[in-house]
Amino acid sequence: MSGLIDNLMTWARLKSPWILHFNSGACNACDIEIIAALTPRFDVERFGLMLKATPRHADVLVCSGPVTRQIEKRLIRIYEQMPAPKFVVAVGTCACSGGVFNGCYNVAGGVNEVIPVSAFIPGCPVRPEAVIDGVVKLLGHFESSVRAADLAAAKAAESALLSGQSK
Ligand code: SF4
Repeated sequence: MSGLIDNLMTWARLKSPWILHFNSGACNACDIEIIAALTPRFDVERFGLMLKATPRHADVLVCSGPVTRQIEKRLIRIYEQMPAPKFVVAVGTCACSGGVFNGCYNVAGGVNEVIPVSAFIPGCPVRPEAVIDGVVKLLGHFESSVRAADLAAAKAAESALLSGQSK
């Protein structure tokens, strides 16, 4: 029974990754573009993504801005609270490398200086189209990170679930 539940969980996570948005020191311009990607005009939700407010329910951490020394420990704590497998997306030049803030006394650098990053989306600010492109690539990475056997079992669980719904 637990195998079926695990397969259904894998299927659900592949179909609808939940994301947490975190500003680790951005000027807010990247954040506005991330929000635009989530709104109906750009509609990143059509790929199954859903914004969540807690790291305990999130699969993907979308991080904007350089990591300031003030926020560094909180970012690590949020990352540690997320269940595995988890992914981090660095959105904007600052998140990718520290950008114009790199080298400042109060900046640790880009997000990957503090936690592991799965995808980098450069831009200052990023465009919503770039966020969507990065997210779609990440979903491909997400799928390939699941073992082929787990993926086949997850797809079988999906078929079983859908055939049960059609009865
Ligand atoms: S990349 Fe540009 S827009 Fe984004 S947080 Fe840095 S300075 Fe602001």
